[in-house]
Amino acid sequence: MAIETVGIVGAGQMGNGIAHVFALAGYQVLMTDISQDALDAAVTRVTKNLDRQVSREAISAEDRDAALARIRTTLTLTDLGPTDLIIEAATERETVKQAIFEDLLPHLKPTTILTSNTSSISITRLASRTDRPEKFMGFHFMNPVPVMQLVELIRGIATDAETYDTLLAVVENLGKTAASAEDFPAFIVNRILMPMINEAVYTLYEGVGNVNSIDQSLKLGANHPMGPLELADFIGLDTCLAIMNVLHDGLADTKYRPCPLLTKYVEAGWLGRKTGRGFYDYRGETPVPTR
Ligand code: NAD
Repeated sequence: MAIETVGIVGAGQMGNGIAHVFALAGYQVLMTDISQDALDAAVTRVTKNLDRQVSREAISAEDRDAALARIRTTLTLTDLGPTDLIIEAATERETVKQAIFEDLLPHLKPTTILTSNTSSISITRLASRTDRPEKFMGFHFMNPVPVMQLVELIRGIATDAETYDTLLAVVENLGKTAASAEDFPAFIVNRILMPMINEAVYTLYEGVGNVNSIDQSLKLGANHPMGPLELADFIGLDTCLAIMNVLHDGLADTKYRPCPLLTKYVEAGWLGRKTGRGFYDYRGETPVPTR
């Protein structure tokens, strides 16, 4: 099936990046959010990021202008009804996502493909509550979307081959690379990445190393571009904890027990870069470890 128009629900850090890459690849984008401020901030962010690509000569000024002209916004969710593909990128809470799909369903074309950018919630369960589980998939972009090459494609138990092939072609059109994952808690990337981050927090909690020595060890000893604690701050510690809880609940194995220190940081509201403090304090000129 040919996809020409894309509806994006949620204009946060993922939604704006998804709008950016789709518009640049020639798709018509309609983005919605419950907050006008979020929509305005998303358009500003996309404009800045496209400007940066122009100044690096990665794209031309005409490409930027054409991409921006393809992005429209609305506060009315049901305006997205006539689009060919819906990408839900709202807050990582199952009740929020479920309500979005319920409200959208009566307004969709029969052929519209539904997807969620969820990092960890069951695709099969989200799909089962819609009228088209065979046209429902996990479409997991990585942060920051314009930079990261990978897109995870997650099939629910009922997803049909046509839907999968359509999204695979979309990923290729975006110039990105797809990895296919089965629908089990946290899929592939976060199934592997989050326990590593959680273990880094345990390493800190048990006093094996401090923030600097842990991050430096993985950067210089395992050639990781970012240390695990620095990366956790970038992702958001609330998101990391939510994913560990999905792994712990979904797989019922104590090896996924979230580190109490991670819980403590989240309870303090120290969520990483987005709140100015996490394993590092970002409020000054340079980040300073908080432990
Ligand atoms: P975010 O908090 O930056 O943005 C979420 C946006 O959703 C907000 O602007 C909020 O106003 C909006 N929203 C909430 N309820 C809504 C509703 N009912 N209708 C429309 N909009 C609504 O979050 P994010 O980091 O962009 O994450 C979004 C999704 O992407 C989550 O499912 C998350 O798990 C997933 N994800 C996040 C990352 C990451 O690194 N942050 C990576 C991959 C996937």
